[in-house]
Amino acid sequence: MSQETAALICSYLKKFNCSSVHIGGGEPLLNLHLLCEVVDVLTKNNIFIEYVETNCSWATTDKKTTETIEQLLYHGIQCLLISVDPFHNEFIPFEKVQRTISSCKKSGMRTLIWQAEFESDILRFDAKTTHKPAEYISHYGFSYFADVCTRYGIVFGGRAADIFRKYSEKYPIGTILKNSSPCQRLANTSHFHIDLYKKYIPTLCTGFSVPIEEIDCIPHKYPLLNGLYAEGISFLYNLATMQYNYCPRGEGYVNNCDLCLDIRKHLFNLSALYLELSPSGFYKAL
Ligand code: SF4
Repeated sequence: MSQETAALICSYLKKFNCSSVHIGGGEPLLNLHLLCEVVDVLTKNNIFIEYVETNCSWATTDKKTTETIEQLLYHGIQCLLISVDPFHNEFIPFEKVQRTISSCKKSGMRTLIWQAEFESDILRFDAKTTHKPAEYISHYGFSYFADVCTRYGIVFGGRAADIFRKYSEKYPIGTILKNSSPCQRLANTSHFHIDLYKKYIPTLCTGFSVPIEEIDCIPHKYPLLNGLYAEGISFLYNLATMQYNYCPRGEGYVNNCDLCLDIRKHLFNLSALYLELSPSGFYKAL
């Protein structure tokens, strides 16, 4: 995110009376210099930064880790949210996480371990290397990952949905549609995101985004968001089956968000012109 974009976002945050943010990724610490530039813009605009999220992939040595944390403290960051869970452990050796936590303690950086309850599960394995879900399953049993999805409170979206789907019970389309109700989550602003393309991502429904200056236009410019908010998944299903030849999956769906994601992928692949289905990279990566 450029400083210009950060400054523009600050002006909208103020307009909507939002005085604090968190910074997430991807991985915000992939580029420390750019992160600090954005942090400086937020601070200059009196926007408080509650925490920066990190997966600790960058914590390769004690020296680098300490220097990074000291630089963050210098720029006013007071808390790191550190990802601790079996999902990240597939890609990041736990020793990097341990190094970051210990360095934060020494430097006076507060930490929010997300989530500390998984620490003991992960510590059963060699901290110097990564561990795939199959290793966890062979150690803790087949239901381990399904339990982890529930314990973690995983949100059904994006690539996380693939994990959830693999280990969860599925229901026929009729059952999902019978329980359709308006997606009020779309209008919840207690936790939302703004990406580097200056787009607002409503709550935790990933794969939808609208330009920040068009939030007020959602009811007339973004029919999918509007229909889901007003009617729920039955709106999207009716539209997709009647106008876009969508066929329900025989194996069923975990929940309404599973069906929603599958339909949106279908619409995106047909190049259906719904501007709220963005960013395109989200759908290409599914
Ligand atoms: S069904 Fe779609 S819009 Fe509704 S809450 Fe789930 S992901 Fe969000």
